[in-house]
Amino acid sequence: MSYLTKNYNRKKIAFKNGKGSYLFSIKGKKYLDFIQGIAVNSLGHSHPKLNQVLTNQSKKLWHVSNAFLIPEGEKLAKKLAKKTFADFVMFQNSGAEATEAAIKAARRYFYSIGKPNKNRIICIKNSFHGRTLAAIYASGSKKMTEGFGPKVSGFDHFKFGDHQTLKKLINNKTAAIMVETIMGEGGIKVIPDWCLRGLRKLCNKKKILLILDEVQCGIARTGDFFAFENSRVKPDIVPIAKGIGGGFPIGAVLMNKKVASGMTPGSHGSTFGGNPLAMSVGNAVFDIVSKKSFLNEIKKNSNFFIKELNKVKEKYPKIIKEIRGRGFLIGLQLHNDQANFIKDLMKNKLLTIKASENVVRILPPLNVKKNELQKALKIIDKVCSTY
Ligand SMILES: *Cc1c(COP(=O)(O)O)cnc(C)c1O
Repeated sequence: MSYLTKNYNRKKIAFKNGKGSYLFSIKGKKYLDFIQGIAVNSLGHSHPKLNQVLTNQSKKLWHVSNAFLIPEGEKLAKKLAKKTFADFVMFQNSGAEATEAAIKAARRYFYSIGKPNKNRIICIKNSFHGRTLAAIYASGSKKMTEGFGPKVSGFDHFKFGDHQTLKKLINNKTAAIMVETIMGEGGIKVIPDWCLRGLRKLCNKKKILLILDEVQCGIARTGDFFAFENSRVKPDIVPIAKGIGGGFPIGAVLMNKKVASGMTPGSHGSTFGGNPLAMSVGNAVFDIVSKKSFLNEIKKNSNFFIKELNKVKEKYPKIIKEIRGRGFLIGLQLHNDQANFIKDLMKNKLLTIKASENVVRILPPLNVKKNELQKALKIIDKVCSTY
């Protein structure tokens, strides 16, 4: 029997090692891993550079308190700020912590300018911002909040695309709008660029903050360093996590100068956030995935993959309803429940994971090879042909 709590519905497979896009089970089976820890292992498994950096740092220094300077963190924060809209960075350990800290930063900003009643955050219903108490109530999902009352207040919700309700919800207590640029768990739903620009305009007009949760869609996943980049919108606050650590737990909140002015000494903290081990790996991941040539390669390969997936959709229009997403954040929306489809892909040694709205989520490593994409396409086609 397992002594672990039953809060996961685990597949009965365990892995002994991984290499690039592949995972090897303890039973000796080889799987093409297009989950990659849910968009976490940006560079696949056991990347030589990351292995080297982690090993080197592990021999020097693992952890020191944030009561001291941590040069590796200073370095990564500078890189993130120089590359993006951000002026300042606050390191955490996970996505939920990053979104929580983003909420805190937004509230704290209005507090610091003498408007403590401006503290409500408007979010999309059934979005996903993590599993801490505030984050589940921010997500506005019945399933995630069930049994975890009392409710954490301060969140208002509108349905994806319901601009009228969104506008109505804004009042003098509103501090921010927080949305995922691309809804991950929610079914790979992309907020179009024109809509992001509309959100920015609306926030400017109402003098509230725009928080874009890029925990899943950020860090080169879409072929841009951030999913919102193409829209040319500048958010005020952006929580990141998943991809930046390449498998090492890292979270962070990026923010502009204005918001950061509220985060005075003692206002927030984290024991582990930004420790030398995490920061060394984060710097190495950043250096690779932020390169223009690497980003272009993602765009090229993902365009090919999405085009081919659309061909499979044309071939099986009764099975596949829509191909969603951007870059290597892809959703295969089926007409029917996707659970068996995912099982069949797995039987054919391709690992994918579900998202809402009958979506099969496909998350290759960003450095996936073209022949691996072709292999996956063959498996998807084969499984479709059996339905
Ligand atoms: C995964 C995810 C989170 C939560 O991250 P954890 O590291 O699991 O806490 C938050 N927001 C989004 C958009 C995510 O995809």
